[in-house]
Amino acid sequence: MTQRHAQRSLALLLPAILILALAMSFVGFKVSEDTSIARLAERGRQRLDLYETSLEREIDKYAFFPATLGLERDVVDLLVNGGEEQASRINNYLAELNKRAGSLSIYLLSSSGHVVATSNWNQPDSFLGEDLSYRPYFRDALAKQTGRFFGIGTTRSQPGYYLSSPILADERLLGVAVVKVSLEQLETSWSTVEAPVLVTDENGVVILASVPSWKFTTLTPLSEERRSELAQSLHYNARPLPPLGLQSQGNVSSEKAEIVQLVRPAAEEPHTFPIYGVFLAQSAPLKGTNWRLTVLSPFGDLRTMAWLNAALAAAGGVILCIASVALYLRRLRQWERLRAREALQRAHDELERKVEERTRTLKEAQEELVHAGKLAVIGQMSAGLAHELNQPLAALHTLSDNTVKFMQRGMLEEAGSNLALISDLVTHMGTLTSQLKSFARKSSGKPRPVNVRRSLENTLFFLNRRLSQRSIRPEINVEPADLSVLADSNRLEQILVNLVANALDATEGVEAPRIGLSARMDGDRVFIEVRDNGPGFGENERERLFEPFFTTKDSGGGLGLGLAISAGIARDFGGSLSAANLTEGGALFVLDLPLATASENVDA
Ligand code: ADP
Repeated sequence: MTQRHAQRSLALLLPAILILALAMSFVGFKVSEDTSIARLAERGRQRLDLYETSLEREIDKYAFFPATLGLERDVVDLLVNGGEEQASRINNYLAELNKRAGSLSIYLLSSSGHVVATSNWNQPDSFLGEDLSYRPYFRDALAKQTGRFFGIGTTRSQPGYYLSSPILADERLLGVAVVKVSLEQLETSWSTVEAPVLVTDENGVVILASVPSWKFTTLTPLSEERRSELAQSLHYNARPLPPLGLQSQGNVSSEKAEIVQLVRPAAEEPHTFPIYGVFLAQSAPLKGTNWRLTVLSPFGDLRTMAWLNAALAAAGGVILCIASVALYLRRLRQWERLRAREALQRAHDELERKVEERTRTLKEAQEELVHAGKLAVIGQMSAGLAHELNQPLAALHTLSDNTVKFMQRGMLEEAGSNLALISDLVTHMGTLTSQLKSFARKSSGKPRPVNVRRSLENTLFFLNRRLSQRSIRPEINVEPADLSVLADSNRLEQILVNLVANALDATEGVEAPRIGLSARMDGDRVFIEVRDNGPGFGENERERLFEPFFTTKDSGGGLGLGLAISAGIARDFGGSLSAANLTEGGALFVLDLPLATASENVDA
């Protein structure tokens, strides 16, 4: 990856991480809030059920009162017949009953809605004789229904819950029995509440609340019209009915609940539960009334927890992202390393192939060089060879001429012996040319067992003319006689011809020139030695003998390739060629080659 590439990837990565973190925090917040709200709603429902039953039980305690009054014969008698005495008795009875029941007041209305008897008959605020036909519970009784009504008393302004029951005789309304219960009495059932709870009536006015200051407030602001209506009916006895200040923050449809907020009140009352902040509001209608019970479950640190979880989710997201990027980068690096290794392998293979190709070319070049060296030797020998062939040719010429003459004269015997001589000469020439041919041919180079003695003899044969010109008869000393080396006969002879030719050159001008050839065996090695009594070589020369083109001979005398090629051939067969000065004067060349075992076929 290039640096620019990496920078671009990073520039894309950072916003991606940011988006992911935001998304994760949103999801984290949502999930946390939703589950917490669900838990809160579940608790709220349980509270709602609990408060509802306790409130209903409390109301039911008084519910049967008005109905039972209708069963009292004295009561019915008073309603039907009236009478001072009867009224006074019932008044006392109701006062006693009210005291025992702990209700605010119990009273009887006539069919016209006038109070005919009341528990508070002897109180200053007694409403005996008052016309209460305008009260809703009276109207309910006219419709022959039991009535339930929350209202504020007109005389003492005392809020209360009115329970009424029509008193009937043969479907005819005789009167109405009413019991008024104090709100405080109902509220006693809430002594154990853990969260704010309130009851609103049909007008949305809070009539019961676990927080006293909430009483006579409205959940939703009342219209002016409704407000004046209520003022006229003295329903709340001209109370101002301010709004509670509940602000909706939206519905939780899955829970049938609403999130609401209450602002902090100016004067705080001590409470066991929070009375401002964010709440989950859940409400349910109260059976047998037009009232609704509402429980406000405080959110508490629900939102803080949700934010915390959002932050955790975001951090988790970022860590996850960074971890995956790190993993991706590692993979990328591994992949790149793999690719680099592959490329290296390819380069290596290519190099190997090239080396092989070059080696082959070099080998071919070397072959050519060896061959060229050989041809150079032949070139050097050509004068001798021409002489070698000219002599028998001249003899053949004379002999054939003589044979013709002998035959013309009928001297068949002489002619026959001449022909025999001719045949010998031809055989000799054939041997010479075939030797030359075999020396000149390109050899396979494959190592095969070669008889050392025969190779040495062949060498001398090639150089026969030069040797005999100089009257040198080299000794051949091979021990054991059938010693064989693992080489190629042609190449071995090429080395030997080189060495002996050099010895001939070196002994030029020496008074009694000597050349010695010997071969011995040492373990699995064979050492072939060529020695002469020439001048040997100086120290500088000896070091450079095997360098190509090193020669001390005059121009045209030598190319300086003979020893270099010979040493190369020896190396090819797993051997070596070395040179040393002999102590008694002269040079010694030692050719070291591997021994051929007896099992291998011996090459000529
Ligand atoms: P060239 O014969 O063409 O010079 P060679 O590689 O065969 O090339 O020989 C290199 C040189 O080694 C010769 O020029 C000569 O100086 C030296 N040399 C070779 N053989 C002998 C020897 N037997 N005695 C002394 N010097 C020798």
